[in-house]
Amino acid sequence: MHTEQMLLTTLAEISDRLIPQLRLDTYEQALYWYLFRHTHLLGAVETTISYAAIEKAIGVTKTATTRRLRSLAEKGCIRVVDTGWGGTKVSVSLPEEMLGPVTAPHDAQPVDIEAIDFFGQAQYREAILRREGNSCFFCLKKLSPENYALDHLVPQSDGGNDSYRNVVAACHSCNSSKNATSAEDFLRRLLRSGRLSDLEFEQRLLALDAIKQGELKPDV
Ligand SMILES: [Zn+2]
Repeated sequence: MHTEQMLLTTLAEISDRLIPQLRLDTYEQALYWYLFRHTHLLGAVETTISYAAIEKAIGVTKTATTRRLRSLAEKGCIRVVDTGWGGTKVSVSLPEEMLGPVTAPHDAQPVDIEAIDFFGQAQYREAILRREGNSCFFCLKKLSPENYALDHLVPQSDGGNDSYRNVVAACHSCNSSKNATSAEDFLRRLLRSGRLSDLEFEQRLLALDAIKQGELKPDV
């Protein structure tokens, strides 16, 4: 035991791995904790068993303690190192020695949002729709997951990709009438035809800029 953090990790591993994996019963658990307390917590590895002290501390008789010492030894939790005149001396093993190091779960890899194709898969298409608040990015008409389209801000024919920085949710009308018009020009057209107010138009331009800058990340 070198640092407080190591100690806390060991305590958690005893509780989370050692006890369930080795199926320690209640007596074995009480005895293991007692022995851990009188070895590793004192900076030692070995201790001489005092049956009287154990009975006083955890209420387990000598007969029961003897039986649990044997089962703990069979499970590898302790090792009997001496049974001479001085009494039974045991060393107490730690979870990592018995079970090996903790392995990290394989699915803990973080998602790289920059590498995701938001056009191709339904789950990512809907993440774009949610980012837009279920509204058409251009005219603000309400959309539903059953009735919407995705539009490329920079058309694919001009080198636009399927990144969340270039894909927005749109109604079918905007999607088909925008064609190769730039997003900014198309928004201006919606302003002139009265489908966007001045304020909405300004807000759309801000949103457009934020999306291009990668500031509006969909929740994936
Ligand atoms: Zn629209």
